[in-house]
Amino acid sequence: QEDNFKKVISHAKEYGYVFQSSEIYDGLSAVYDYGHNGVELKNNIRAYWWKAMVQLNENIVGIDAAIFMHPTTWKASGHVDAFNDPLIDNKDSKKRYRADVLIEDYVGKIDAKIEKEVAKAEKRFGENFNKQKFLETNPRVVEYLEQGKSILSRMAKSLEKEDLADVKALIEELDIACPMSGSKNWTDVKQFNLMFGTKLGASAENTMDLYLRPETAQGIFVNFLNVQKAGRMKIPFGIAQTGKAFRNEIVARQFIFRMREFEQMEMQFFIQPGTQQEWYEHWKENRMKWHLSLGMGEDNYRFHDHEKLAHYADAAADIEFRFPFGFKELEGIHSRTNFDLGSHEKYSGKKLQYFDHETNRNYVPYVLETSIGLDRMFLAVFSNSLQEEELENGTFRTVLKLPAVLAPTKAAILPLVKKDGLPEVAQQILDDLKWDFNVTYDEKDAVGRRYRRQDANGTPFCITVDHQTLEDQTVTIRHRDSMEQERVAISALKGIIHEAVDM
Ligand code: ATP
Repeated sequence: QEDNFKKVISHAKEYGYVFQSSEIYDGLSAVYDYGHNGVELKNNIRAYWWKAMVQLNENIVGIDAAIFMHPTTWKASGHVDAFNDPLIDNKDSKKRYRADVLIEDYVGKIDAKIEKEVAKAEKRFGENFNKQKFLETNPRVVEYLEQGKSILSRMAKSLEKEDLADVKALIEELDIACPMSGSKNWTDVKQFNLMFGTKLGASAENTMDLYLRPETAQGIFVNFLNVQKAGRMKIPFGIAQTGKAFRNEIVARQFIFRMREFEQMEMQFFIQPGTQQEWYEHWKENRMKWHLSLGMGEDNYRFHDHEKLAHYADAAADIEFRFPFGFKELEGIHSRTNFDLGSHEKYSGKKLQYFDHETNRNYVPYVLETSIGLDRMFLAVFSNSLQEEELENGTFRTVLKLPAVLAPTKAAILPLVKKDGLPEVAQQILDDLKWDFNVTYDEKDAVGRRYRRQDANGTPFCITVDHQTLEDQTVTIRHRDSMEQERVAISALKGIIHEAVDM
């Protein structure tokens, strides 16, 4: 697992997807830069989300709010008082952990034991293996599952009651039961606020303490009436936004899974009070469908319903994805009640209400939120796509099986040889296709090597120009995943590529 993850990180660097920020100065922890391919993949994921949310829903509109917001925003939202993570230090290793993440890691070890049992049984029973039944009946697995559940529920209860001494006690017990850090020497658990502070204004008397926004959602809430009135929106309706958010995360590891500067894609859906249960189910299902539409395997997703709810929520679930280090949150779906709008009313003294012509009354709308990290989605797509495949002749190829709609480069145009006018024809094809797609040209090395390069880069199609092309205006088109090649007319290329990559 760890090796796989290392491969993901080094492949991302080698192929221009993700670089460590400020690398020449030894990097900045949990901050990353995106290279050419990374930007394209990120743009495509964002566009895929935006299309599904805004373009395909007549009642969802967009906004792009500023990162800086009036500081009272964060009093009202609860971030000044409640946006804390429990922090614990190990005195021997001098390492700092987020207590809840540390506990989840212990539970991850238990999960790994379960996966091992499943793999063993799968081997033993072959085709007759029924995973669901095995999970429900195998005594060892049942015990592990119970153990994991009870650890998580004790953690949730202690955190909810802010019983930080018990969180520490739990970590110490786990350390004895399944040693991980090799040390039992922990500090007390402290709460740590995650917001980055900064100052606005130059003169000493006039500066104002600001925060970099830790989520994009508040820019939507404070603009609720502007958007509703300008677009003459009728409830139910949604506002969508993508943009940067900043959190001074304690656990800075796992590559772009948890960053200090990252991008969110959020949608707040405003509804009548009392209808939240039905909209909660609707958006849970809708968002899961969006994920599955990328074809990355149903088995790689699961819901996790929250027992411990944030101060603003009356129901919450995560869509979890199987990352190289196990199942982890990818997206949250939260029923936020009227907490945010109600609180902004209180703090601002401005009414944030909606007059409902259907029911003839004024109310503060309830909100359902879907919130996904763009970078985290990037990691899900990238890590799931990176595969090592054994070929028929016993050699291996590295292939990045990105969903074609998201791939940074859609096709590479390759002249078979660098002479006889083939490069010129290839260039003409490129000049024609580049108005529709991101395409690239490559004439260096043998064509087999060039195919491998494009495989590793995630390019779904290679188009090869050979001598026959000069006679009959046909080329070969090679499919990345199946490696099959077909002979097609140059004039058919656009149609074939559009069919495969259009959103
Ligand atoms: P976690 O428990 O993993 O810290 P969270 O529950 O605090 O996440 P939310 O506040 O619900 O996360 O944020 C919504 C989404 O934003 C998450 O599902 C995740 O995809 C993304 N996200 C949150 N924090 C980060 C981060 N530090 N780096 C990258 N993405 C993040």
